[in-house]
Amino acid sequence: MAGLHRDIVIIGAGPAGISAARSAAELGADVLVVEKEAELGTKPCGEGVLKGVFRELGIEPREEFIRNELKGAYIYGPEGAVLRVLADEVTYEKFRGKGGGYIINKKAFLEFLMREAVELGAELWTRARAVGFEVEGGRPRAVVIEREGRVEKVSCEVVIGCDGYWSITARKLFGLGPQEVIPCLQYVMEGCSIEEPDMAEAYVGRRWAPLGYLWVFPRGPDSANVGLGVRGCPAKPYLDKFIKEKGAFRGARLVEAKAALVPIGGLREKLVMDGAMLCGDAAGQVVPITGEGIHPAMTAGLIAGEVAARAVEEGDVSAGRLAEYEERFRERWGDVIEIGLLARRAFEVLPDDKIDRVLRLLDVNKGVMVIDGPDIGPFVLDLLQKDPELCAEIFGSLVEEVVRGAGS
Ligand SMILES: Cc1cc2nc3c(=O)[nH]c(=O)nc-3n(C[C@H](O)[C@H](O)[C@H](O)COP(=O)(O)OP(=O)(O)OC[C@H]3O[C@@H](n4cnc5c(N)ncnc54)[C@H](O)[C@@H]3O)c2cc1C
Repeated sequence: MAGLHRDIVIIGAGPAGISAARSAAELGADVLVVEKEAELGTKPCGEGVLKGVFRELGIEPREEFIRNELKGAYIYGPEGAVLRVLADEVTYEKFRGKGGGYIINKKAFLEFLMREAVELGAELWTRARAVGFEVEGGRPRAVVIEREGRVEKVSCEVVIGCDGYWSITARKLFGLGPQEVIPCLQYVMEGCSIEEPDMAEAYVGRRWAPLGYLWVFPRGPDSANVGLGVRGCPAKPYLDKFIKEKGAFRGARLVEAKAALVPIGGLREKLVMDGAMLCGDAAGQVVPITGEGIHPAMTAGLIAGEVAARAVEEGDVSAGRLAEYEERFRERWGDVIEIGLLARRAFEVLPDDKIDRVLRLLDVNKGVMVIDGPDIGPFVLDLLQKDPELCAEIFGSLVEEVVRGAGS
């Protein structure tokens, strides 16, 4: 085909796309990343990342992209329960349970990762929107891109769709329908008086954020990312009420308000096809109970970039060859996402008083086992001993979920 050609075209320069660019370029593939925005990191984000993520991905945390270090979190129930999670008291770790977290500067982090990918040979086009694909023999042969008022076609061997929850790759190439999402709204507040800036805060239950949760992620003592995800009602009244009533924000300034959707329905049914892969939000790679998406997106991107580069080199970009990416991703994250989905659905039906009760009874390490294992056995046994009725209620709805999932 005449015109521009690249081994791999990556659509979207978020955590997934940049990670894919890094690993593919490192193996010598000819990589183009197209990003529709003029800059990286424009989407709103709480910017909360566990320290273990950096350990697992082999990235050295640097001052240029770390805003604040967290030693733990408070989880506030709707009726007064408060669970304090201190990193020092977390003894369980399968992948990355220990050590607390960071509030990162996501824009600076993405720029740092992209710089490294470019040094390895990847190319980035900003203000370049993928608008379609040329498909031949069931495989994409070119990506159609709108850039500076012109339409360009870039032919390639593999397309990696890292284009977020409203992914054109998922819709137009994979033929997938919409995902289950939660609308989120986030304010960046400055001039705050945060008493414990090294503690994140999460507020759960219908009182704070129906069918979602509200977060306060301190960027430091006087600045915070304050946001929430809700379903079935508008987000703004809940966030405004919280800000108004919370002493830490008295006299504080709202410097940014942005909304976006987070996919919370679990992994998409298909992550690879001949000549194409889906990663990150586009693939539903978000932990449904927490909304955590940076880490799984980066794992996915790193594996997908590597597999795509090797597949191109071997001259076999069939779905069968690219399936290695899906297998390796599922091995690391499949159960975490699946259990996270079941847990979200089970907790969604719990009334506020029961949510409080769970928080009062929860053993922190057994909770970490659910999220990092995922191992729900010790959590269920512990709760069964402490409150069999509550355990039956939660577990009953989980069983219903499993049965419903198996039947659908
Ligand atoms: C309000 C909010 C708070 C969050 N807080 C956290 C948090 O604290 N911690 C955490 O781990 N996760 C958080 N998440 C989730 C996390 O941000 C995402 O899961 C993660 O960014 C997914 O990365 P991605 O690369 O798959 O997609 P994205 O980050 O969405 O990146 C996709 C990129 O593709 C580009 N793009 C889209 N379509 C096209 C196209 N047609 N052509 C070219 N480019 C295109 C977009 O502009 C974007 O840059 C939050 C999400 C929201 C909305």
